[in-house]
Amino acid sequence: MGKRIRFTCKNCGKGYEGDIGGGKNYALFRCEQCNREQTHPRPFPLQKAIKCDYCGGRLSEDIPPLCPVCKSKDIAWGDIILTYE
Ligand SMILES: [Zn+2]
Ligand SMILES: [Zn+2]
Repeated sequence: MGKRIRFTCKNCGKGYEGDIGGGKNYALFRCEQCNREQTHPRPFPLQKAIKCDYCGGRLSEDIPPLCPVCKSKDIAWGDIILTYE
């Protein structure tokens, strides 16, 4: 199940929204190194086997998107705005 979350950048204070988790039939990942979003259909192989297509970094389902202003990774999680299948 996917969630839309309100994030706040701890570096510059920018507030923005981002999606986490994907949907019922696909998973939304972000790369721990380059933060690119990638989706994989569910069910997918063991998470440790999933690597970033771009840099080979580890993918995670619960990394917030980078700050759209300053590209910081230091992001505070806020409220869930909505959830979806
Ligand atoms: Zn920022
Ligand atoms: Zn990557």
